[in-house]
Amino acid sequence: KGKRAFIAGIADDNGYGWAIAKSLAAAGAEILVGTWVPALNIFETSLRRGKFDESRVLPDGSLMEITKVYPLDAVYDSPEDVPEDVKTNKRYAGSSNWTVKEAAESVKQDFGTIDILVHSLANGPEVSKPLLETSRHGYLAALSASSYSYVSLLKHFIPIMNPGGSSISLTYIASERIIPGYGGGMSSAKAALESDTRVLAFEAGRKHKIRVNTISAGPLRSRAAKAIGFIDMMIDYSLANAPLQKELSAEEVGNTAAFLASPLASAITGAVIYVDNGLNAMGVGV
Ligand code: NAD
Repeated sequence: KGKRAFIAGIADDNGYGWAIAKSLAAAGAEILVGTWVPALNIFETSLRRGKFDESRVLPDGSLMEITKVYPLDAVYDSPEDVPEDVKTNKRYAGSSNWTVKEAAESVKQDFGTIDILVHSLANGPEVSKPLLETSRHGYLAALSASSYSYVSLLKHFIPIMNPGGSSISLTYIASERIIPGYGGGMSSAKAALESDTRVLAFEAGRKHKIRVNTISAGPLRSRAAKAIGFIDMMIDYSLANAPLQKELSAEEVGNTAAFLASPLASAITGAVIYVDNGLNAMGVGV
């Protein structure tokens, strides 16, 4: 029987989420997507108008089908948490049931269960500020959108995940090594995400037989990465210094996610898996 995946954090065809969806679809999974509410309209319109058709092509020539797109804002767990100004905001008012709890309920109503949960989202409003200049508000916002959002997603989706299921998030080496420019508490958020991966692997493994891993990905020119401002430099640095001197493709991360979600990885949980052309192993640039 085919597996069903819910991938949170796709709003165009340039990011890791899209590539993961494609690799999972190529392996036969049914694809459900959670899209950030303010980006939902343009994403659905572009999908419908065929703007992504070229990037929907799978290795066998068929087009990836997205069964359903759900609105999602992963910084809110349930309707009680949504402030009035967001509720009435024009970009939110047109959608409904987009808190994490409601999204999980909608998926349950529509499909019953899922097998694979992917968290491919992050946000840090002060990412361009050094940590020393980051406000408390900016720091906590980075943790809320990039780290707790994963705890919340797993918490609310676990009840509808089949035993043997697999959950994957995306992290970045700035959690453990100094990457100047990855500021605003985003390095802290990734450190939390990686630590939580271990604790959640224990809890979800013992209670529900679900595996929890995170992929530490190398640099990709996604929309989110371009907003940080130093992505071209990071890609050049990797090209110059990594053991494998080639540009990293999103597909390589997608394929690793498909492996981690499959029975081939049945003994892997609580792990940080590097998909970065080996850059993490270098001690010095050469
Ligand atoms: P992306 O722009 O494709 O994905 C980020 C997504 O998060 C966007 O679709 C955005 O709409 C969504 N999002 C933001 N706030 C949200 C919220 N509150 N609720 C729901 N969705 C929200 O960019 P990406 O670089 O592919 O990012 C995916 C993941 O990969 C992130 O965790 C990122 O930190 C990680 N990552 C990226 C790189 C890189 O170089 N691009 C490297 C390592 C790790």
